[in-house]
Amino acid sequence: MIDLHLHSTHSDGTKAPAELVQMAKRRNFTAISITDHDTVSGTGEAIREGDKQGLEVIPGVELSVFNADRHFHLLGYGMDWQDSRLLSGLKRLQVSRDERNDKIIRKLQKLGIMATLEELQSLSGVGQTGRPHIARLLVNKNIVKTIDQAFTKYLKKDACAYIPRFIYHVKEAIDLIGDAGGLPVLAHPVQLDRSLELLPELLDDLVPMGLRGVEVYYPTQRGKIRQKLSYLANKYDLLETGGSDYHGDIRSGTTMAVGKNMTIPDHLCEKLNQALNYTKNN
Ligand code: AMP
Ligand code: ZN
Ligand code: FE
Ligand code: FE
Repeated sequence: MIDLHLHSTHSDGTKAPAELVQMAKRRNFTAISITDHDTVSGTGEAIREGDKQGLEVIPGVELSVFNADRHFHLLGYGMDWQDSRLLSGLKRLQVSRDERNDKIIRKLQKLGIMATLEELQSLSGVGQTGRPHIARLLVNKNIVKTIDQAFTKYLKKDACAYIPRFIYHVKEAIDLIGDAGGLPVLAHPVQLDRSLELLPELLDDLVPMGLRGVEVYYPTQRGKIRQKLSYLANKYDLLETGGSDYHGDIRSGTTMAVGKNMTIPDHLCEKLNQALNYTKNN
């Protein structure tokens, strides 16, 4: 069993990288990838724990990107996670997030909510800090009852404490991952458009830019949707990937990719590794 889409405490997940590796090992997984938002800072810990436990850990990342007027997520797999250009590209996202978090907190303070950057930092801990952490802070302070309410009332686009943030154009993100020897993969296409009608048009754009794969296996992509994604992956000569997008126990009823509908075939990982080796040797 494999799971190539997991979030740790280095972004908005609630389990540390080593904990995710231990959990995967206990459940008899053979390979995982931790794809934290905008950061690879948990990768070293995950790989060290993977070596200890005898579980393959593929370096991963998930970036928010745009193309024309569409916003979506791009996954990166198997890149040299210590590559200096990759790290400075990710650093730019962190700097922009820091500025934005500061502005959001100040907006909240103007609304009479006594939240501070220090509190946000201590709640977020290591790695990336984003709106999900601010939402948790608002829940902890009893300003709202749920994370969802925090977004609706304060944090979502057009809400009273919303601040946009810098994101990369998809071509820049593809290059950041590709130039570091990794494989850029389109994440959960169903979130772009449930009917998938617009997907071929997007792939016509992204494949010439260097897109190498598409996330076919995903909790909300089943039956006919999965079949269509698999068909398109084949048609565009793209690798298939898959994962649960597990964020820890913060989202109830979610877990790693185990069981009916969500078992990801091991051979996807073998194909990914073949493609990575080929990329490295050519
Ligand atoms: P950020 O990258 O800081 O802008 O935060 C974006 C993240 O917030 C997304 O990846 C979602 O996981 C989360 N998010 C966005 N909208 C909501 C919502 N309405 N309820 C809960 N989480 C949300
Ligand atoms: Zn997330
Ligand atoms: Fe995503
Ligand atoms: Fe994700």
